[in-house]
Amino acid sequence: MAWDFSTDAEYAAKLDWARQVVQDEIYPLEVLGLDHRAFRELAKPLQEKVKANGLWAAHLDPQLGGQGYGQVKLGLLHEILGASDLAPYVFGCQAPDSGNAELIALAATPAQRTTWLEPLLAGELYSAYSMTEQGTGSDPKQFTTRAVREGDSYVLNGQKWFVGNASRSDFHIVMAVTNPDVHPYEGMSMLIVPTNTPGITMRPLANMHDVALDDPLYIHDEVTYTDVRIPVENLLGNEGGAFVLAQKRLGPGRIHHSMRWIGQCRRAFDMLCERAVTISVHGGRLAEKQMVQQWVAESAAAIEAARLLTLQAAWKIDQTGSSSARVEIAMIKYHGAYVLHDVLDRAIQIYGSLGYSADMPLEAMYRWSRAARLYDGPDEVHKVSVAKQMLRGYSPALPPTEHIPTRQAAAREKYASELKRIGL
Ligand SMILES: Cc1cc2nc3c(=O)[nH]c(=O)nc-3n(C[C@H](O)[C@H](O)[C@H](O)COP(=O)(O)OP(=O)(O)OC[C@H]3O[C@@H](n4cnc5c(N)ncnc54)[C@H](O)[C@@H]3O)c2cc1C
Repeated sequence: MAWDFSTDAEYAAKLDWARQVVQDEIYPLEVLGLDHRAFRELAKPLQEKVKANGLWAAHLDPQLGGQGYGQVKLGLLHEILGASDLAPYVFGCQAPDSGNAELIALAATPAQRTTWLEPLLAGELYSAYSMTEQGTGSDPKQFTTRAVREGDSYVLNGQKWFVGNASRSDFHIVMAVTNPDVHPYEGMSMLIVPTNTPGITMRPLANMHDVALDDPLYIHDEVTYTDVRIPVENLLGNEGGAFVLAQKRLGPGRIHHSMRWIGQCRRAFDMLCERAVTISVHGGRLAEKQMVQQWVAESAAAIEAARLLTLQAAWKIDQTGSSSARVEIAMIKYHGAYVLHDVLDRAIQIYGSLGYSADMPLEAMYRWSRAARLYDGPDEVHKVSVAKQMLRGYSPALPPTEHIPTRQAAAREKYASELKRIGL
């Protein structure tokens, strides 16, 4: 099958435009010390420009107000947007709203589309994805948050953790056990829970990303649901269908994450190279030191390899759907996160104490990058999944299949008459 990542001229021009917006309009917003309200205000005119240029909410199909570009084209856009944390918001594809919109679009009733999806896409509502329970995030089968049906309501009890933007959102999509008597794959459901429903309390979590809890874009909360009463019409999809929906949400989302990491890598790589050609120590430019050249060469190759692996996963999703690309999607999750970490680490190293200081963006990029190995499932879970798929094609063999004495005996038998003919 042909494998083609070429980009048509019209879309390439849109990507060039997006790159310019990110560098000229969004990079300056990063350093103004904006809180999230001020950031949202300053982003508004830029969002209008993005809409006029046909790049708003590009992850969605045309009937939902998106562009229906497919994962490869989207990946190329996310690579550009990833350079700045703030850019996805300006382009209407920020986490967790973009994934939530995809999820609602997949499963919503017509009434849910009107009430939740349309205002979410218009940027009038904000959402949170409330799934993880502390200590069991990597094994959702152990979740205990319960939604019990009582008449026309579900009554929700439980505690979720690290819910992105929970306290800044208008609604949470909550994953809860609705039937504890069947396998969790069939016993969990998703509910749309308005954030102002009585019984919800939230505790902001200071962490490596939002140390001061005032990040303009992302904060994270612990959320406790106590006897939270939700109308049954807020069930998203089928009762018991949460796992299937969650997988559909996470597959393409990992492509977007991984391509955004490439964007972060490129920005860090540019800083690394600029420093290498600028500073001289011990009688020569850093760029002339072999150790620095090794960082440059290894970073360039690693970024390119991660990019191609991600685009291949995106291409496979476009061709045959998310489930056929499961191995590639899992690979880019941990491989991309390592590349991001290593490139940032080298960039900080070459700047020395300046790189460690908040006078350069690298220290914040580095702190944030650490989360890449955790969110959407820790690396280990993805590695286990890839290893299982890889090992499935192998059977035990003693002696080993490649054992040379055994192969020699078999080869002598196979070629016995020819060997005899030539006197061996
Ligand atoms: C910045 C950030 C944003 C997040 N946003 C959200 C959000 O919006 N909504 C939401 O619901 N959640 C969110 N999360 C939570 C995230 O999805 C979880 O942290 C993740 O799934 C891991 O779950 P856990 O933290 O409970 O880890 P645990 O389940 O406690 O696992 C801890 C460690 O155990 C090890 N481990 C686990 N499984 C295996 C295995 N099979 N083999 C070997 N080792 C293993 C790994 O080292 C793992 O890191 C976010 C997390 C971060 C850091």
